[in-house]
Amino acid sequence: MLQAGIVGLPNVGKSTLFNALVANAKAQAANFPFCTIEPNVGIVAVPDERLPILAKIAASAEIIPTRVEFVDIAGLVKGASKGEGLGNQFLANIREVDAIAHVVRCFEDDDIIHVSGSIDPIRDIEIINLELALADLGQIEKRLDRAKKQARGNKELQIEVDALEKLMPVLNEGKPARQVSLTEEEAIAVKALGLLTQKPVIYAANVSEDDLATGNPWVDQVKALAAQENAQVVIVSAQVESELVELPEDERADFLESLGVQEGGLKSLIRATYDLLGLRTYFTVGPKEARAWTITAGMVAPQAAGVIHTDFERCFIRAETVAYDDLIAAGSKPAAKEKGLVRSEGKEYVVKEGDVILFHTSA
Ligand code: GDP
Repeated sequence: MLQAGIVGLPNVGKSTLFNALVANAKAQAANFPFCTIEPNVGIVAVPDERLPILAKIAASAEIIPTRVEFVDIAGLVKGASKGEGLGNQFLANIREVDAIAHVVRCFEDDDIIHVSGSIDPIRDIEIINLELALADLGQIEKRLDRAKKQARGNKELQIEVDALEKLMPVLNEGKPARQVSLTEEEAIAVKALGLLTQKPVIYAANVSEDDLATGNPWVDQVKALAAQENAQVVIVSAQVESELVELPEDERADFLESLGVQEGGLKSLIRATYDLLGLRTYFTVGPKEARAWTITAGMVAPQAAGVIHTDFERCFIRAETVAYDDLIAAGSKPAAKEKGLVRSEGKEYVVKEGDVILFHTSA
């Protein structure tokens, strides 16, 4: 399963956010195969408005959302790239994730010490990005030396050298590698390096409950910086989310309404992270359950079937599929069938976001 790592300076609200993510998953455990693999790894339900609608159409007894994995990566301090704090361990943990949710402190609270003494999200983001860039730079320098020596007459290695030489000056300025446009060949050539600053990032601006509805000037600063990086920003209140999970379900809506919002930001963060990871959803719907499944872009029907059960990939015969919008417009599967909107697709079919599928297999 693809993973998103939660990073940020100490005391910005990472653990509070992570605990809220996990508590939310636990609350749904009755009908949801969730678990915490390790204390800092949580499997989280991906909110999807389409599921209850599908469940209603098919009178499904249960709704089962799909899942995404979050890792709470603690321990980044200034100097991590030189081994400060948990330094190398921390960087190794980031290297393993597929995307980064970067939590930024955009709330004031005199009781919660800020490691750098004041609230300044841009400085905070730059501290982290610099550590990550320095770590990448260290790796590139090592690799470049070797690759240069071996590159003579070797076209593949020359492509890698070219890519590394493009990346180096940008990283030297403390900027992320994702800002460098590499050719497809170059990107493949440097993939094995697992550069930290090449991973897609989303900024989670952690605000106080009063600012959840409106944002604040710090959030605006984060948005401006993210725009330059082509990254997304989600406003979230870790505090609100941690209070929400403590409340009885029937009181949550009132609490949120009193803050002028519909949610505390967690749902948006999960959803946006799922998209950031390049994940797609298809559905299976029947009287027993309406269920969402995760695939990556480009997967063909047998591979998508294999997500349900490995045998299904091997024993795939065909996929009976209808687009979510077509199904909803028709009102029911029989009605969709009548209109010719339900298609029979074979092995080469690339599954699309929102497909509602019934797999026929010989399993
Ligand atoms: P981490 O070091 O980034 O994991 O930060 P924590 O989640 O441990 O949070 C540090 C402290 O800040 C804790 O005492 C939290 O209760 C508090 N905190 C987290 N988010 C918020 C917030 O949105 N508002 C306020 N006022 N406090 C928060």
